[in-house]
Amino acid sequence: MTPVPPRFAGRLDPSGGVLRPAPWWRLAPVGRLLDWILALTAAPQQRGQLRVPYFHSVGTDLPASFTYPAPQVWAPAFERFARVARHEYEVVADPSEWHDAPPSARPRLWITFDDGYRDNYELAFPVLRRHALSATLFVTTGWLRDSDHAPGVCLSWREVREMAAAGIRFGAHTVSHPSLPELSEREAEAEIRESKRALEDRLGVPCALFAYPFGHVDRRVRDLVAKAGFQWAVTTCEGVASLDGDPLLMPRTYLAASDLLYTDLRLKLRGLHEWRGPLWRTSRLRRAVHWRDPVR
Ligand SMILES: [Zn+2]
Repeated sequence: MTPVPPRFAGRLDPSGGVLRPAPWWRLAPVGRLLDWILALTAAPQQRGQLRVPYFHSVGTDLPASFTYPAPQVWAPAFERFARVARHEYEVVADPSEWHDAPPSARPRLWITFDDGYRDNYELAFPVLRRHALSATLFVTTGWLRDSDHAPGVCLSWREVREMAAAGIRFGAHTVSHPSLPELSEREAEAEIRESKRALEDRLGVPCALFAYPFGHVDRRVRDLVAKAGFQWAVTTCEGVASLDGDPLLMPRTYLAASDLLYTDLRLKLRGLHEWRGPLWRTSRLRRAVHWRDPVR
């Protein structure tokens, strides 16, 4: 089995794995400045809201090298993030803790990772432990390795069990990471149900959390996820979750390799990207900046 599916490979530039920036990207610092100003004026998190940052891979390389098959944050930046999360937020292990809890004086955060990369165990897990933080990993069950010695960039089931025993939660992210709306109903249902069953069989606890691969979801897929018995599902739409929102379409906050500084992290956690949400959704813009913020 190839550990990295062709879909990933196809998203990288064939000449060397780094996608080229669009020419107008030279104007990026202006946008960034605007981002900061707008984020500084944004209201802090309201009561009843939940900010859900998401990561993929955590690496030791300097950031902005997207040669890795997934978006990567630099390990020292992740450490900074963990410090901000610990001191400035109340971190919940999963959304049921937020939903059923009384209002908190501190804003709430639910830390998530997608795909199930091995470095989540090697680099992120020790940091989370050191700061006594919990998190949820949405794993693509078909990519997980059966033994620690098997080759591949994803977690082994032993690592999954070790993290689960230490309080890390696990959610399903399908078996093979397809774009679910493009599948037939039967195929989509199998991807959703099989990944849930694999996690429940291996961990012996019910799995109520789901993440849509690539954030791709439509009404039909959302309803299939509900039918499979999931209580919470996350998208890649930028935003903050609220108690009156659909629990199966929770927005999240993307933290990128370029978010290196405390300022970047704090502003992102205050919704730095939200103001451009409607623009972001237009496909042309999204394609143009895709090299920088590939969202999976
Ligand atoms: Zn994914």
